Amino acid sequence: MGKSSKDKRDIYYRLAKEQGWRARSAFKLLQIDEEFDLFKDVHKAVDLCAAPGSWSQVLTKKLNENRVNDASPPKIVAVDLQAMAPLEGVIQIQGDITKSSTAEQIISYFEGELADLVVCDGAPDVTGLHDMDEYIQAQLLLSALNITTHILRPGGTFVAKIFRGKDVTLLYAQLKVFFPVVTCSKPRSSRNSSIEAFVVCQNYAPPEGYTPTMANPLMDFSYGPENELLGTNRVIVPFVACGDLSGFDSDKTYPLEKESLDPLQPPISAPYKTAISLKQQNFYNKVP
Ligand code: SAM
Repeated sequence: MGKSSKDKRDIYYRLAKEQGWRARSAFKLLQIDEEFDLFKDVHKAVDLCAAPGSWSQVLTKKLNENRVNDASPPKIVAVDLQAMAPLEGVIQIQGDITKSSTAEQIISYFEGELADLVVCDGAPDVTGLHDMDEYIQAQLLLSALNITTHILRPGGTFVAKIFRGKDVTLLYAQLKVFFPVVTCSKPRSSRNSSIEAFVVCQNYAPPEGYTPTMANPLMDFSYGPENELLGTNRVIVPFVACGDLSGFDSDKTYPLEKESLDPLQPPISAPYKTAISLKQQNFYNKVP
């Protein structure tokens, strides 16, 4: 697909290039912030599953706005499986958030200090098998939550992508163990056609005596009918649509008014790189 057709199809993709964000996802965090005032008094933050880095760009901008006079610069740690182009003021870790070695690296950067905010926009490579995709997404969210229990200050906020699948109430129940206020939010820039939403978990308050552990007790929970929360045990959290609802609709196509721009940050190690290079060498035409 040519870049101009993607430009026509997706208004937020185009706006991201015009406004200098590395990905359209920046608008999701900005619109969640419009509703929840996420960055108030935030000076230290962790961006899990951060590549190509638009949420880290938002964090850099917002946390620097919070900085008063000669206060020390904000601390932002960004983590992803994939390499990410450098961003000024952001400490980058290339690693898997489901591995304890990555979690330990993140914790070590905090040197005993605690973060005010942890965000996670992690998504697995979607297979199209909905149960599998929802399960992997849930495991990613629980890994992020587990890391969060090590580095978030009491009272802090955790924001994470969630798939609103059939087992979502179990995840809400797990989040509610640590956060008294959990809201499911759907920013305007997240397509209605997608089951993606974002949980905004506020006022971190782990159960009394809870000791964070890397042997993740939350993960590998067996999902399925035997663990379905029913009746009064079913946890329902408020659902909030956020962003300017009379603004751009991410499911609509808008005419292309300006010339198409190049992406701000093309992938630095695209998975399709080898295929392109083989194509340039005419490799595929030679195969009988
Ligand atoms: N928030 C990012 C931004 O604004 O640029 C976009 C994040 S993208 C939707 C999802 C990211 O999750 C991908 O870069 C992917 O590499 C990362 N990811 C998926 N599984 C991961 C894992 N186990 N550990 C670390 N990163 C992971």
